[in-house]
Order: sequence, then C-alpha cells, then structure tokens
Amino acid sequence: MSGDTETEVSRLRRASALALAGLLLVAGVVMTLLSDVPFHKASLPVPAVLAVLIPIYLVTYYYTLDYEFRSNAYTVTLVQLPLALGVQLVLPGVHLAARVIAAVTYSAAQRQNPLKAMYNIGTAAFELGAATLAVAIVGADEGPALWLALYAGLVAGDLVGALTLGLIWTLLGMPVHASKTVAAVAASAPATLVFTAFAVIALSAQATDARTVPVMLGLGAGLALAYRAHRRTVTQQQATEQLYEFVKDLGPLDLQSHEAAAVLERTRGLLHAQQLDLAVRVGDQWCHLVVDEAGDRRRIDANVRPLSAHVAATGAAALRRGGHGAADSMATPLVGATDLSGILTANDRMGAARGFDMRDLRLLETVAAELSTALERGQMLADLGRAATTDPLTGLPNLADTTRQLAELLTVHDGIVLAAVAVDSFREVNDTLGHEVGDELLVEVARRLTLSSPNAVVGRIGGGRFAVAVPAALAGGDPEMFGLGIRAQVEGSAQIGAVGTHVRLSVGVVQAPEHGSAAATLVRRAETAMYSARHHNGGPVLWEPAYEVTGTRRLAVVMALREALAGGAIGVAYQPKVETATGKVSGVEALARWTHPALGAIRPDEFVPLAEASGLMGPLTSSVLRQSLTACKGWQRRAGNVGVAVNVSAVTVLDPAFVTEVAAILSSVGIAAELLTLELTEGVVVHDPELAVIRMEELRSLGVKLSVDDFGTGYSSLTYLKGLPVDEVKIDKGFIDGLTSDPADRAVVRAVVDIAHTLGLRVIAEGVEQQDQHGILRALGVDEVQGYLHARPMSSIEVGVWLRSRESASRL
Ligand code: C2E
Ligand code: CA
Ligand code: CA
Repeated sequence: MSGDTETEVSRLRRASALALAGLLLVAGVVMTLLSDVPFHKASLPVPAVLAVLIPIYLVTYYYTLDYEFRSNAYTVTLVQLPLALGVQLVLPGVHLAARVIAAVTYSAAQRQNPLKAMYNIGTAAFELGAATLAVAIVGADEGPALWLALYAGLVAGDLVGALTLGLIWTLLGMPVHASKTVAAVAASAPATLVFTAFAVIALSAQATDARTVPVMLGLGAGLALAYRAHRRTVTQQQATEQLYEFVKDLGPLDLQSHEAAAVLERTRGLLHAQQLDLAVRVGDQWCHLVVDEAGDRRRIDANVRPLSAHVAATGAAALRRGGHGAADSMATPLVGATDLSGILTANDRMGAARGFDMRDLRLLETVAAELSTALERGQMLADLGRAATTDPLTGLPNLADTTRQLAELLTVHDGIVLAAVAVDSFREVNDTLGHEVGDELLVEVARRLTLSSPNAVVGRIGGGRFAVAVPAALAGGDPEMFGLGIRAQVEGSAQIGAVGTHVRLSVGVVQAPEHGSAAATLVRRAETAMYSARHHNGGPVLWEPAYEVTGTRRLAVVMALREALAGGAIGVAYQPKVETATGKVSGVEALARWTHPALGAIRPDEFVPLAEASGLMGPLTSSVLRQSLTACKGWQRRAGNVGVAVNVSAVTVLDPAFVTEVAAILSSVGIAAELLTLELTEGVVVHDPELAVIRMEELRSLGVKLSVDDFGTGYSSLTYLKGLPVDEVKIDKGFIDGLTSDPADRAVVRAVVDIAHTLGLRVIAEGVEQQDQHGILRALGVDEVQGYLHARPMSSIEVGVWLRSRESASRL
C-alpha cells in the first residue's frame, strides 16, 4: 500500500511500531553499557575484533538452520554461537558495535522496509544486551554458572523480541497468535541451549590451549553445515511426501465451495507461505480467494498486484524477493485446457531468515498445475451437474429436475395442480419442416408456458412434452380451468421457420393430494391424462384411476412383445388384392398378427407403434418378411406366383442394413425379388428426402417393388410423387369410405389416378367394403382393390385354399 492511500490512523500506528522496535535498540545499548563483564580473555585490537566478528555475524544471517516442529516451519540462526563467544571474549561495547553493524548491513542488503530493519537491529542489540547483562549479574567466569547465565540471557532476549513482534503486529492490526509466538521461542530454545553449551566448552578448552578455539569453531561450523545438508534432504523428502499426499487427496474443486478454502489452506502450509492468494479471472474482474493466519476471505477486484499482473502477462511463474516496503512473494499462472485462467500467489515465506527460492517456485508451479486440474474437473462436474438437471434446448429443468422441484413444491404447499402438456404439432413440424424448425417450436412453446404461469415450476419432461405445476391456490383449486388457461395462453399461431405454424396442445391435469402424493406418480398420471386428451380435442383431461390400467398395459405389451418376437409368437395374416378390371388376384398384403396367451389378441395398431417406440421394429419387420416370403414360396408350388406386400416403417427403410437384409432373406427363401412389394408411408421421405430416395433406389435395384401406403393422409402433394422411385400408390381407406357420399373424395381419387397413371404408377384402393365402392373405383380407373368385400386377412393356409377355390371357380 502506498503512503498516500494510508489513513492518518494507520500512519500513526506504523510510527508507534517503529518506535517500539527502536526501543529494543535503546534497551540493548543501555544493558550492554551497564554490564561490566569481569573478564575479556582475548585482548585483540578493536579493528581486528570488528573485522572478525562482523563477517561471522553476517554469515549467521545467511546460513540458517530450518526445521519443522508440529507442522510449523522455524528458522534457527547460528547467531548464538558467536554471541556466546563474543560475550566472553570481547569488550561489550565493541561486541555491540559489531553486532549492530552486521544487522544494519544485512537489512540494507535485503532492502528491508524501515520497520522490519529497525526490528531486526533492535532485537539484535537487545539479545546481546540481555546476554551480556545476565553474565555480568551472575559474575561467573566459567562452568555451568556462566553457561546458565548466557542461556538465560539469550532466551530472555528471544522472548522479549517475540513479545515486541506481537505488539508490533497488534499495532498494525494484524492477527497475533500468542501460542504460535511462544511455540517459536520454545522451538529455538533447545538450539540456544546447544550453542551456548558449545561456546562455554570451547572457551574452557581455550583456557587450557588457545589453539583449540579455531579447532572448536571449525568443528562447530562443520557440524552446522552437516546438519544443514541433512535438513535439506529431509525437508525435500517431506516436501515430496506432502506434495504426494496433497495430490492424492485433491478431488474436483469448486472455487465457490468451502472446500476450496480448506485446500488452499493446506497448500499454504505446503508452501510455507504466510498468505496465499488464488485469483481467477471472471469477465474483466479478478475473483480472489485469500487464505492466511486469519482464515479465508473472498474479494473481487478489477486489478491484481504488479507481480500477478506480470505473471498474467508473461504466462510464466515469477519470484520477487522482499523489496523495499514489500514482502517476498512468488506467483504462477494456472493454465487450464479450458478457458480457466488464474494466478496463484504466495506471499511471505514462514521462518524469518529466508525468503522464497527457486525450489519453492517449482513447488508452487507443481501445486498450481494440480490445482488447475482440480478446478477444471470441478468446473466440469458443475457443467455435468447442470446438464443433468437442465434441458439444453429450452433451458428448462429436465424430467429428473422437474420431478425434484415438484417434490419440493409438494412439501411446501398443501395442494398443487400439475398439467402435462404435449405439443401436438411437434411431430408433424419435425417430420415436414425438419428438426431445426421443430426445435424452434419447442423453444417458443417453452417461452409461452413460462410466461403463462410465472410462479410455476415449468419443465420439459420429454420430446414435445412439458409439465407445469403450481400451488392449488394459484390455480383456483380447479385443475381443468388451469389446463384451459394454459391452452388459451399458449395455443395459437407462431412464426417459426420460414412459414408460420399453429401451436396446438393436448393437456392432462392432476391434482395433489387427490391424485397422488409422490411427484413421479403425479407426473406420470398427468401424462396419461394428456395422452387421453389427444383423442378429446386436446383436453384438458383430468386423470382418473381408470387410466392406470391402460398405462400399465402399454408397459405389459412392450414386455410381452419382446418375448413374442424372441419366441416367434408373432404371426402373419394375408389379405388378397384383386385387379379391378379382371377380378384376378394380383397379390396379398402381409399383416402382422399377435395373440398373447394372457392379454388376448392385440391389434397391430396397438403393438406396431409400441414396437417402433421400444426399438423392436427391426426384429418385427424381419419376422414378417421371412414368414411372408416363405408363405409365398408355398403358394407358388400350388397356385403359381402370388406377390406379397410387406409393410415397412420409416426408420427401417432408412437403415442401410435393411437393403442387405431384404436381399439375404430373398435369396435364402429362394423367391424372385419381383414378387415382393414393400409398402412405405409418406413419412419415410419427410425426414431426409435425399437419403430416403437413395435407400429406395437401392431396394428397387434388387428388383423389389415399392408402394406408397396410406396415400393422401400425410403432407405430400401429388406433385411430390414425381421424384419418388415407386411403383404404386395405395389410396387410404379414408377416401374410399366417403366415395359413395362425398364428391370431394371422388375428386381426390380421380386426381390421384390421373397423376399416378401419367407417372406410370399403378393405383390401389384399400378398405373396399361395398360393391358400390368397387364400381366407382373401376369407373375411375383404379387398378387394384383390397378390402373385406373381396377377402379378409387370412392365414397362409387359408390363402392357399382361397386361391385354389377361386381358380376352380374361374374355370367353371
Ligand atoms: P395398413 O397397412 O393400412 O393395413 C391395412 C389395414 O386395414 C389392416 O389392418 C387390415 O386388416 C385393414 N383392412 C383391410 N381391409 C379392410 C376393410 O375392408 N375394412 C376395414 N375396416 N379394414 C380393412 P391391420 O391388420 O389391423 O393393420 C393395421 C396397420 O398396422 C396397417 O395398416 C399397418 O400400417 C400396420 N401393420 C400391420 N402389419 C404390419 C407389419 O408387419 N409391419 C408394419 N410396419 N406395419 C404393420
Ligand atoms: Ca399397408
Ligand atoms: Ca394403408
């Protein structure tokens, strides 16, 4: 923080802190001068003493012993050694001068800020003063008494230094942990004990033989160096171990979570940093998560500190030694595969004497790499979580989340009303105008639904299906009125795609607790009612227990169908087609038949759509194809060639494997492809016209004939027939029904015949039940007719008998 932004108060506090540190120096000087140490065994000239002592003191600043105690890092300086020797050998004033000059030199070299420098010099002087005074008071010149006095003085100096530091911190408004301060002093006490003992022994040895002094000093220095080397290895091992443990425990991390702060706190310990700052870029701001002794806090800033800015700009880790007015710090970018960008900054290395070095920086980089991976995974999990609850198209909650929100609503309110809403036009739009337009329609409906019930839970529960739930009170307690309201507000024209479309809904409603208490049950029942609404002009239809039966039946039918297909229990009935002009049999249509032992006869209108919905269409088509062609082979032997037409659904036709399968079955049964007609509905073409045409060409190149089934019911026009590689058109029963009464139907049939014949296609009419219909169709030029009038669907054996009876009848 620069001076001009400091408040008056904090400037005052800084000044007091500085004074306090200065007081230490004054006290140290006074104590030194007060003490008349009784013996100074060496009587070296002052300059020589200074020339020896100052470098030794300087060395003790740079060569320190680091160690850890109860997971805290401490640094013990070797300063007690020269101190203890000096107290015994050198005049107190000269000793103090050497000590202070060394401290000043060091602080200047480290470009420490004034307060830090003053504290450093002050404690140096105070410690010396305390030790000198203690020895002077005890008055012992050798042995345990001298040693105890020295020791007591040094520990007292240490303690006062630590207390002053605590005071200074308090003054500056920084948190102080008394227990940690005491622990730091306690941690250095054993080292002090060893050094003072060593110094006393060295001195007694010197008394016997002066030459032992350098020997002892050399020995001490050697031991210290060996210890340092040992410490370094141990520290490195511990660091590796800690790093390993850290990485092992690190799971996906969400920056917003409490866990992130805990992980960062652990990282702080790992890096021996007083403070750790994780800054992540969010837009044009930086989100900081800061941890230090005081705990963790978050803040948002437009800028980062200069070092972080430098790191962000260069993309490389950087180290900055404690310069004037600033602590030492290091920072590294968090580089992620995604757009996660952040900076991890460590400030102030714990342990007084040394700052961060290259090893620390490398550790920081490693930790940062692990952190960014963890954060990225956290982000991914968050994304996944979002994907697990949200429908990506509409942004509404999906089925799972809708159910969850509904359950929540149920716990809060006594009664709720839930509507299941199906967009009726969705399938058509999808089929005729493509998926993009279908998607647009859904987005529009989602928007209207949300607007129509602002305080509701609105979710997308399936393809074109939505759920809307409100507290019963909001729905006026009348679920049907609620459903009507939704229809009124959502239905209507919508500008979607190039053309406009009309939104139509089917709405089913339920009421809790009357219709169930579990969210999932309510959703399912509302949907059941919604399906029923499809046959009741869109509803709204209120669910009633009777619907449950049909719901379970659908499931039962699918299960039974799967079994039936596996067990070959699906049969085929054949309905003859007759040439209008001659009355000759032109072929048969194969129609799937199924009678379940328990469920009874199940109509294809029921099980074919279910097969389609449950992925059973492939096996069903194969089974019918094989049976039909085998039957065809049988009739061939007795009654000659009878063609067979097999119904094929759109998905099957588009499947490239289908062509190969048809060819395989034809050749394995041994039937000419010309005898097989595939009946496709117009829906085949709307999904992907180009692909459909390719597949159809492939089928026709086998020799198979193609027929357009249910012609006139879909979205096709007559002109669209032109581009299709087909052989015949089957006019839907709907037009045949009205033939005798409705001139419009007759006009349609006439137009179909005209165009089809122009294109060289044959025309078949299905569902012919009356002789009158047959007459009109013949007059209109329809080529073939099929219906109850001529024959009902029969078993293959019945067909054989029927064929031969007609043959003999025609011979009569
Ligand atoms: P579709 O292809 O239009 O088959 C004609 C349906 O009309 C058959 O009903 C047939 O029994 C019935 N029908 C024939 N003549 C008359 C008549 O004169 N009057 C009346 N009222 N109905 C007549 P079915 O067998 O119930 O089949 C219904 C639909 O199920 C079929 O309609 C077809 O779309 C589908 N389907 C049947 N079998 C298969 C199959 O093997 N595969 C596929 N994909 N669909 C099949
Ligand atoms: Ca058909
Ligand atoms: Ca048909």
